[in-house]
Amino acid sequence: MSRIVYVNGEYQPEDQAQVSIFDRGFLMADGVYEVTTVIDGKLIDFDGHFARLERSLGELGIRNPMARDTWLEVHRELQARNGLEHGLIYLQVTRGAPGDRDFVFPDPETTEPTVVLFTQSNPALVDSPKARKGIKVITIDDLRWGRRDIKTVQLLYPSMGKMMALKAGADDAWMVQDGCVTEGTSNNAYIIKNGRIITRALSNDILHGITRAAVLRFAREAQMPVEERSFTLEEARSADEAFMTSASAFVMPVVAIDGVALGDGTPGPLATRLREIYIEESRKAAI
Ligand code: PMP
Repeated sequence: MSRIVYVNGEYQPEDQAQVSIFDRGFLMADGVYEVTTVIDGKLIDFDGHFARLERSLGELGIRNPMARDTWLEVHRELQARNGLEHGLIYLQVTRGAPGDRDFVFPDPETTEPTVVLFTQSNPALVDSPKARKGIKVITIDDLRWGRRDIKTVQLLYPSMGKMMALKAGADDAWMVQDGCVTEGTSNNAYIIKNGRIITRALSNDILHGITRAAVLRFAREAQMPVEERSFTLEEARSADEAFMTSASAFVMPVVAIDGVALGDGTPGPLATRLREIYIEESRKAAI
């Protein structure tokens, strides 16, 4: 069955949806995106994703083409039209298609932003076989640009990082800058040492994960100590546990870094507990 997608105000079968070849998202990665998870047909942390979308657009000077309630309506309509139970809704806003290719931004009065949304189903989202086993990461240099706090569609280096990991027999890559871990290719990175959860503080160096904010809140509520600070590669390799977070992976235990097993090489108790809490609380708050 063909998916129904949303393009610039219209719901269309995916094979009929079109975007201009002059779109600046296509030519220059001049656009931003969000990924909102759907569990039991409901949206997880919609308002967090909407707030970050507004921030990303604001940092790039792209007008937000729709009000919060319209965004919510489009998400709900796509979920319903595609019968999406478990999976994600991807949204992308670009600076639009002005006609000629030009480094200069087009006049926002005459060039409308392009808006695209689509769904991806993933029935194994909650009861994930990967989460039961844990994942292995390698580490690579962080060669991305300096505004990683903006969720742009410039994902070539993270994609290359993921391929380096797969080639090395691992699942993902954590990126390292000045000896410290920044984040994963598509997730935030954490280690646990002596019961303390350690993750890099927010800055332009990392994406401000919506799942990160929720997980740190739940951890503090459960009296788990949290340190928001940089941690070195050596600290990571000698951690008791590690995990990563993202909207679509929730809390995912990490069981090996650069081929060195953490603890007994199985998902740690705190990471496992945080995953349970996150899923339970997110389900309760879903809209
Ligand atoms: N860091 C990066 C680089 C990411 O791409 C993502 C997911 N898009 C995250 C962190 C996690 O963010 P979130 O929890 O909002 O999905």
